[in-house]
Amino acid sequence: MPIFIPFMGCKSRCIYCNQYAISGVTSANDIIASVQAQMARWRATATRWDELAFYGGTFGQLPVALRHKLYELAMPLPIRYSTCPESITPELAAEMTQNNVSTVELGVQSLSERVLRLNGRNYSVNDVSQAFSLIPAGIKKACQLMVGMYGESQADVALTAAGLAALKPDYIRIYPTLILKNTELEAYFKDGRFAPLPASEILLRAAWLYIHGETSSSRVIRIGLPPEADDSEMIAGGWWHPACGELVRTLVIESWLRINVKPEIDFHPLLYGYKATLKERFAKLSLREAPAHGIMKPITANLRAHYSAEPAKWFSEQGNIAFAKQLGTLQ
Ligand code: SF4
Repeated sequence: MPIFIPFMGCKSRCIYCNQYAISGVTSANDIIASVQAQMARWRATATRWDELAFYGGTFGQLPVALRHKLYELAMPLPIRYSTCPESITPELAAEMTQNNVSTVELGVQSLSERVLRLNGRNYSVNDVSQAFSLIPAGIKKACQLMVGMYGESQADVALTAAGLAALKPDYIRIYPTLILKNTELEAYFKDGRFAPLPASEILLRAAWLYIHGETSSSRVIRIGLPPEADDSEMIAGGWWHPACGELVRTLVIESWLRINVKPEIDFHPLLYGYKATLKERFAKLSLREAPAHGIMKPITANLRAHYSAEPAKWFSEQGNIAFAKQLGTLQ
């Protein structure tokens, strides 16, 4: 049951963030009343819920009394919340085990100090490692990442990808940066300080994180904003696609095929539905029809090993670039 507490607990505003735009939940004077109203709406749609999740703010920096009120409201459901790395303290970690917290999603976004600073994130890469190590065993740790952030280079993405193995998150979400209205990033966009990356570059960067995410004892459970974001009139710029994850996986699979079986590289828009259209090619490679996740583990491991000596090659290979460009034009 996703409950949005927009900007609650945030000590400052990250330059790209507008939680009101993403969640559709407006600012609430009475946060408890807002949470209760959201819970009532969800409960009217289903009787069984496995977990209650607080998104859209910095749960770990809410006043202690408010956190406890929210734990009470969620009972008996296990709780998942998103928070920023610097909010994880030994006290908060103890509170997790005492209050039925099942999952903590850390808004890491990047493991480049420079990119974090430029985007208004108030923690260091070291704080991220410490946060991951403080979360008690038995509580799932998720890592939220972004690509195409202000000031980000391919080298920064390579740095983030390389750092994932040490964090060992249970799962990962990857979000391409969008320019949302009423953000500092929108101002940068308007005055020319920020130009959003083209689709092909976003896909290449997201794919590189995906390859490392899948091979770092974790699963990548989401790439891109949920499809509802399409309805938002709050997007001022940046590339967005409702099937961003499918495009990234298609790019990864095609790169792997190119390296391993040297197929004729022809652009095939139907690769978008890769699970069905690549079935025959997988069969020839002795890969049985398997859930997408099962297929992607060996593929990403192979690509990671292939490019490990030269990560920059992933971004400069003409085949990858051309194919990413073609994918980026799919509607
Ligand atoms: S990105 Fe997270 S920490 Fe930054 S302003 Fe938005 S909700 Fe708060």
